[in-house]
Amino acid sequence: MGPSIWESQMLQTSSQKPLDALVVGAGIVGMNAALELAARQPDWRVAVVDASPLGGGGSTRNAGFTCFGSPSELLDDWHQIGPKATVDLVRMRWKGLQALRQMWGDDALGHRACGAVEAFTDSALFEEVMAFLPTLNKALEEVFQDTPFQADPVESATLKATCGQIRSHLEGDLNTASMIQTMRAGLDRAGVAFWPGLRVENLSNADGLWNVICGALTISARHVLLATNAFAQDLIDLDVHPVANQVLVSEVMPGLKLDHTVHHDRGYVYVREIEGRLLIGGGRQWDCRDDDEVGERLTAWARRHVVGCSPFEVAHRWKGQLGIGASRRPEVKTLQSGLHAGVRLGGMGVAIGTTVGRMLADLAIRNQA
Ligand SMILES: Cc1cc2nc3c(=O)[nH]c(=O)nc-3n(C[C@H](O)[C@H](O)[C@H](O)COP(=O)(O)OP(=O)(O)OC[C@H]3O[C@@H](n4cnc5c(N)ncnc54)[C@H](O)[C@@H]3O)c2cc1C
Repeated sequence: MGPSIWESQMLQTSSQKPLDALVVGAGIVGMNAALELAARQPDWRVAVVDASPLGGGGSTRNAGFTCFGSPSELLDDWHQIGPKATVDLVRMRWKGLQALRQMWGDDALGHRACGAVEAFTDSALFEEVMAFLPTLNKALEEVFQDTPFQADPVESATLKATCGQIRSHLEGDLNTASMIQTMRAGLDRAGVAFWPGLRVENLSNADGLWNVICGALTISARHVLLATNAFAQDLIDLDVHPVANQVLVSEVMPGLKLDHTVHHDRGYVYVREIEGRLLIGGGRQWDCRDDDEVGERLTAWARRHVVGCSPFEVAHRWKGQLGIGASRRPEVKTLQSGLHAGVRLGGMGVAIGTTVGRMLADLAIRNQA
């Protein structure tokens, strides 16, 4: 048994009418790819499918930081991939954030230019990063036309028991739900069909058309754009694999004063305020036996270092998957004629997702058989 004729018509999959482009994955990348196609190819019929009705990828499970890398994380990058590649990474993130904010506006995204602080609890690491800071600031001047990082001689009133802090006034945060709902409304306005609840199980090519199998349904399209990030290996063979990240949000804490985001230990721990609650996530650098131990260490960190955070009653707790690989850069490429991928967003897909989506759409537009 297959879909009804009406369902087929809704999906516009009758054999005479293949789609021009089917985007797989309705995260930040997939939605931006679809919007770019709709803007640049107004006569194309474009649709987006996603396995999950609400999300389930990083785009609906992230922490909402609008960040480009903390000093200790960038020191790591500097040693591992070199100065030029480090500056290029920061440029991509910063430009991506500008593109996101220009496209939707700060109000729609719930964006706050609240600044960030990197909090150090290891004095040797703090000294190493402080010695590196002038070099880093100088190298990044051309990206920001500004000095991105300032050492804070005085501990901020919002953090305690740190041995040093470095501030950036250029970072901020946003409301992830607002961002995703705004993008989905954008799909509607652009006339892009969005079909949630369809998991792509297989893809095959016949006579220049891609047949995309979702259970009993087959959708035909000239181009397929894979924006499945951490789940990419389910459909294609690329260097990207899922790495879980845990996030905890407390009950409302009346004494909380946190008015900026916080990074700690090369970006592995991140903290922010949301509607009077404390959000803390990460901890994958710790060698913990299970998720519960990660959760305990995260809440202990918050209690020890965030002013007004005690006790930490957990109100929300979830895990999401980062898509990572050997390279820090995303993989955006045409795999076969009409089949394109934009994946491996790492831990900063809020920053780079808009740009990666546009690059993915550009591949389809330039690759016209
Ligand atoms: C816990 C956590 C916190 C994070 N915090 C931040 C942050 O503060 N700032 C930041 O910049 N970045 C952050 N990130 C990273 C960022 O969220 C991601 O890099 C980004 O959202 C990835 O977007 P995407 O569109 O590439 O993929 P995703 O958002 O993962 O979307 C992929 C979609 O594909 C769908 N899908 C997968 N397989 C199939 C299939 N076979 N058929 C149909 N659909 C399929 C999934 O359901 C999913 O909706 C965080 C990530 C996590 C997990």
